[in-house]
Amino acid sequence: MKNTRNTVAKSAILEIIQSSKVALSHVEIQKLSEGLCDRVTIYRILDRLMIEDVIHKIATPDGTVKYAACHHKHEEHHIHNHVHFSCEKCHSVTCLDTVKPSYSIPKDYLVKEINFTLSGICKDCNE
Ligand SMILES: [Zn+2]
Ligand SMILES: [Zn+2]
Repeated sequence: MKNTRNTVAKSAILEIIQSSKVALSHVEIQKLSEGLCDRVTIYRILDRLMIEDVIHKIATPDGTVKYAACHHKHEEHHIHNHVHFSCEKCHSVTCLDTVKPSYSIPKDYLVKEINFTLSGICKDCNE
């Protein structure tokens, strides 16, 4: 019984994240899910979705953690190597999936995670 409810909550939360144009914080997800499940359950579901690799976590410059859907094709092993844009005016965080950051690292370093966040004014605020 409990499992069925969790599955429903999980697909509802994934749906919320996937249909949002901007990355969402835990609080925003909780608001949008309209009391579907409690705070702890949402955390657990977000963790699960990250393990399943359908969403990813973004650390914003102001310290809030936000979540966004993954739009890329999944290969055996991959890195989320796109750029995030953080707007200082409306505080939205957007995935710029087509922007690939380039970098060079000293040899013998193994990159496992990339966290590129650009901040400034987003296109909606820049009109
Ligand atoms: Zn903005
Ligand atoms: Zn992203």
